[in-house]
Amino acid sequence: MYPKKITIAGGGTAGWMAASLLQHNWPNVHITLVESENIGTIGVGEGSTPYLKEFFKNLSIAEHEWMPKCNATYKSGIEFPNWSEKPGYESYFHPFFSHLDIETGELFFEKAKAQKQGVCSNAHPDYYFVNTQISQRCKAPKSENQQNLDIDYGYHFDAGLLANFLKERCLRLGLVNIIDDITGVELKANGDISALNTNKSGAINADFFIDCTGFKGLLIQQALNVKFNSFKDSLFNDSAVAIQTPKDSQSPIKTSTCSTALSSGWAWQIPLANRYGNGYVYSSEFINADQAEQELKEHLNISHLDDIQVKHLKMKVGRVEKHWYKNCLAVGLSQGFIEPLEATALMLVQFTVEEFIKAYSNDQDHIAQQKSFNDNVNHMIEGVRDYIVTHYKVNSKSNSPYWKKCREHATISNNLSALLKAWGDPELFEDELEKQQDILVYLRPSWYVILAGMGLFPEQSLKQNDSVTHHSQAQKHCLNIVNKLFPDHREYLSRL
Ligand SMILES: Cc1cc2nc3c(=O)[nH]c(=O)nc-3n(C[C@H](O)[C@H](O)[C@H](O)COP(=O)(O)OP(=O)(O)OC[C@H]3O[C@@H](n4cnc5c(N)ncnc54)[C@H](O)[C@@H]3O)c2cc1C
Repeated sequence: MYPKKITIAGGGTAGWMAASLLQHNWPNVHITLVESENIGTIGVGEGSTPYLKEFFKNLSIAEHEWMPKCNATYKSGIEFPNWSEKPGYESYFHPFFSHLDIETGELFFEKAKAQKQGVCSNAHPDYYFVNTQISQRCKAPKSENQQNLDIDYGYHFDAGLLANFLKERCLRLGLVNIIDDITGVELKANGDISALNTNKSGAINADFFIDCTGFKGLLIQQALNVKFNSFKDSLFNDSAVAIQTPKDSQSPIKTSTCSTALSSGWAWQIPLANRYGNGYVYSSEFINADQAEQELKEHLNISHLDDIQVKHLKMKVGRVEKHWYKNCLAVGLSQGFIEPLEATALMLVQFTVEEFIKAYSNDQDHIAQQKSFNDNVNHMIEGVRDYIVTHYKVNSKSNSPYWKKCREHATISNNLSALLKAWGDPELFEDELEKQQDILVYLRPSWYVILAGMGLFPEQSLKQNDSVTHHSQAQKHCLNIVNKLFPDHREYLSRL
């Protein structure tokens, strides 16, 4: 079962991703997408998780078809400099994991368990994972060996070009695109949406509506009054400033986003094939827009450039209570947003649309389907939020009111509280991970990486000299694999 006529409001990345998935799964549905040329898209959102690979795979879009058109690069993980002041743990890398990490990963867990008990074991995650070495050596995470040694990876891409690429494809496949401003939403007596009123194109009706109108949530929040639950008690950043910078066309390309802690938030740097995407996500309680812009420019070493384009943004952090309500599904920023520290927003877009298609296609009781769909999406969002909040909660930055507030005043969920309390005891932590395995969105390796990577170990174990060599053996092992099997990133991209 599926709706006969769907109208999507909004043509940002969420709108075009939703359109692509709906068109693919329900080829007989008549789909219209209305977007405004007066109201722009958010214009950021250039990093992904490995989940996006499945999006292209499901649509049978090969990497050579989309990546060069979107100046895309591969992503092996995220580097986190300056989040901790623990000696030896000032920076760490959160890699995407793969089967090549099983042995060295177990060794890392053992090292972390020993170090928690006060034994210096050099349990820094950077030595133990293949994707960490891939990023440090500027390799592409694409094995060229005959054996199937594919490892997990995500992408960096130009968000505007990706939306255009998907749009052209949807139009070729028959989607109707209306360029107009939505001026109102008409409701039926039962509370369902009957039509979107527009400036020039009249009323656009449909059986089902998808709200991709960005933070304002024109349909789900404004017309249907679905409640928005803010996460402002646990995540304090509410603003961002974004700047694109040029890139030398010959220099090596890293496969990582770099997320550096600054005075009142953190700055991202995303390497695309032709430029860098940069930005500073910050709390306006501690710094104003001009100060943030200045601090970002200093961080990027571009304070001397006056003519560079700067984009200031406000962020609404939280989620709607129901993502599917009446005959409307909210996708993207309209359904909610957790700040972009782990680049999870498009993963949530994809997850929401895929789960919706499954739930709606199911002939059983629609009300029950709707409820379990909303529960699933909320669970996913809250699982991501808990992992993001952890970065702030366990920071050890001194002399900063912002970082002190993050450490001392961020509200955390009961699940996260239980995990953090258990961390110090190796057995308890393993038990807690097992207890929560059905609800955790980030899995065991990610929890070890973040808590060990931030140096959450007894002080005496951080002061001892490292007398253990396993970490360097593990690093050599990962490096050998990387040098033997993985090509240079820039060179691989040019072949695409
Ligand atoms: C600072 C920052 C960094 C981010 N980084 C990442 C990242 O690295 N990775 C990631 O996955 N995500 C990231 N995101 C999130 C990501 O940018 C968004 O999830 C993604 O771009 C989808 O946005 P959207 O399509 O929901 O909204 P938008 O891009 O805002 O699109 C809204 C659309 O609705 C249309 N519209 C609005 N009102 C009307 C109207 N009245 N009439 C007609 N049309 C209308 C607009 O024209 C536009 O087409 C980031 C977000 C921020 C704020």
